[in-house]
Amino acid sequence: MKCIGVLTSGGDAPGMNPAVRAVVRTALSKGIKVMGINRGYSGLINGDIEELTRTSVSDIIHKGGTILKTARCQEFKQEEVRKKAVNILKVFGIDGLVVIGGDGSFQGAKLLSDLGVATVGLPGTIDNDLAYTDYTIGFYTAVNTVLDALNKIRDTSSSHERVSIIEVMGRHCGDIALYAGIAGGAEQIIVPEKDYKLDEICKSIIEGKNSGKTHNIIILAEGVGGANELAKEIEDITGVVSRATILGHIQRGGSPVTFDRILGARLGAHAIDTLIEGRTARVVGIKNNKVFDMDINEALQAKSDFDEDLYELAKILR
Ligand code: ADP
Repeated sequence: MKCIGVLTSGGDAPGMNPAVRAVVRTALSKGIKVMGINRGYSGLINGDIEELTRTSVSDIIHKGGTILKTARCQEFKQEEVRKKAVNILKVFGIDGLVVIGGDGSFQGAKLLSDLGVATVGLPGTIDNDLAYTDYTIGFYTAVNTVLDALNKIRDTSSSHERVSIIEVMGRHCGDIALYAGIAGGAEQIIVPEKDYKLDEICKSIIEGKNSGKTHNIIILAEGVGGANELAKEIEDITGVVSRATILGHIQRGGSPVTFDRILGARLGAHAIDTLIEGRTARVVGIKNNKVFDMDINEALQAKSDFDEDLYELAKILR
């Protein structure tokens, strides 16, 4: 392996930059040239590619987003377009590819590997929705951002004696809601993996109010539904003023926390080792604090591993 390409694709996540830095510096330390492919698969098919040196990745470890930019590229779902991508990789002399992204980006990486490209995927998404790995790069930073917002909303919720519903990202995965809810002491955590009963939530709000509890924080994962609608329903049933806050894209930004920087570093370095050792169509992940790589098809089929114990613990502690 003489030259490796790296791209970031799909939704951005804090920690992508430390991962890119690790890919570049590990490869260079082993005598491998690195090409940065800008704007995900879109940049790949357009030949938007340039060499990355040690200094190209200086001063990026603390930055959110991705210096390589990211994009969504619908055309990549067409085989003809992917064949064009294979040719571009040949033209640039790239014989291995590291794809940093989520589930969709991995689908693209898998199909590229079917066309003979040596590919390795790194899990870069705040959603933590890739079941094969305990954590994805960006998840902990997003949880911290939600926690910071929750602490502030708690102040105003308490002053006004309101119910506050905070809608968080995660697509069909409730992990951001669960972790931020536990860390922030939310009274209710509503996630797509678990049914919830509106009447029970309202009953506990009324009972709490009757026993002197002045406010309630409810964390709602976006995969369940809208916070505004839920706030209205709760207010109508309980008579307690209820306000929704939809945190939105703030959750995708910010300086990566320590955990995401170290995760990006470890997984990025492992991606290079995987390619050097000749393993392809792989993804890199972490389980029980051990970094590993596995077949991309198996990883994409892994079933959701929602943490039931943590969810039950949240119910006890609230
Ligand atoms: P994420 O990687 O964060 O899940 P997306 O689902 O938007 O984000 O996927 C990112 C990109 O990956 C898409 O814009 C497209 O270029 C590529 N991609 C997604 N799904 C497929 C697929 N089934 N076949 C080929 N490429 C895909």
